[in-house]
Amino acid sequence: SETNVVCIGCGIKVQTEDPKGLGYAPASALEKETVICQRCFKLKHYNEVQDVSLTDDDFLKILNGVGSKDALIVKIVDIFDFNGSWLPGLQRFAGGNDVLLIANKVDLLPKSVKHNKLINWLQASSKELGLKPIDVLLVSASKGENMKEAAAAIEHYRSGKDVYVVGCTNVGKSTFINRMIKEVTGEGDIITTSHFPGTTLDIIEIPLDDGKNLTDTPGIINHHQMAHHIDKRDLKYITPKKEIKSRVYQLNEEQTLFFGGLARFDYLSGGRRSFTCYLSNDLDIHRTKLEKADELYKNHAGELLTPPRKDQMDEFPELVPHEFSIKEAKTDVVFSGLGWVTVNEPGAKIIAHVPKGVNVILRKSLI
Ligand code: GDP
Repeated sequence: SETNVVCIGCGIKVQTEDPKGLGYAPASALEKETVICQRCFKLKHYNEVQDVSLTDDDFLKILNGVGSKDALIVKIVDIFDFNGSWLPGLQRFAGGNDVLLIANKVDLLPKSVKHNKLINWLQASSKELGLKPIDVLLVSASKGENMKEAAAAIEHYRSGKDVYVVGCTNVGKSTFINRMIKEVTGEGDIITTSHFPGTTLDIIEIPLDDGKNLTDTPGIINHHQMAHHIDKRDLKYITPKKEIKSRVYQLNEEQTLFFGGLARFDYLSGGRRSFTCYLSNDLDIHRTKLEKADELYKNHAGELLTPPRKDQMDEFPELVPHEFSIKEAKTDVVFSGLGWVTVNEPGAKIIAHVPKGVNVILRKSLI
């Protein structure tokens, strides 16, 4: 519940119910003379930025604020869930500010993929989505890959201005910022008590050496993401941790692939052909005949076809079919947040089934 106590760090009203929400502090913290929210606590004592989730409305308010400032906007997306982690409308909110696009988690893609090709793909896709970034970078925040270059690019493009980092939850924004702090300071203690976060309610300011700030905005919750529909314990099955091994299936017409019990790919027509699946290595793929697929799901979702878990099936959204005719060679059928299937030649008819509320899209092949 909300209290009347405010955090001495950021000034927000302290609440004790939602550990992921703004202003959270454990109830025991309220007994102290001065109260500090968990987010500020971590920042102060561990130089660790903790992600806090906001509703869309709150986030839009912040974005609106960003547009009225003279600043560089750093937008972080997850290369493995590019469309799912895209923040629509950012260009509108950016005002006249430059947007530097950083695609994180590049370590997940096969090592054989050329970075130049990915950058071109990211530029073209951004343009289609209405954003013209000033530059595009690929990084792995968790592995530290390309982080020096990212730090240098931010320093270059900000030309003495403030920096705002935006991104939806789970793109690795916290990991990125924590790395960035280490990168910039060497020792990782840029945030001293005197630099303790300002009085803004919902953002964290990290001082840069010319008196400007790098500001971490809270992650927006993107409700179309698969992650919101599955049990926290099962997130590991869909969130890949290491390089994805592509899995190739030779399918005859009227065959079906199940991705755990989370999604389903029906191959309707187009002759015998191969499909390349890019999904977390830990997610089981189960092949069956199309005519048996409904029955199999009905009887075995939550067991053979898992995640979701058996005791979760009541709340798990029903799978909704989306039918496509693949017109172009090298097309990805993207299951938002789960991965994608590359269709190599044109002329296939397929149906992609995803939980109600999750998106399926076609795109030019990423790899
Ligand atoms: P935030 O919600 O955007 O702040 O994201 P987090 O920093 O909490 O990271 C979300 C998840 O992505 C965590 O499981 C991280 O371990 C993982 N992650 C972050 N950066 C990377 C990366 O560069 N590569 C990979 N493979 N995973 C990452």
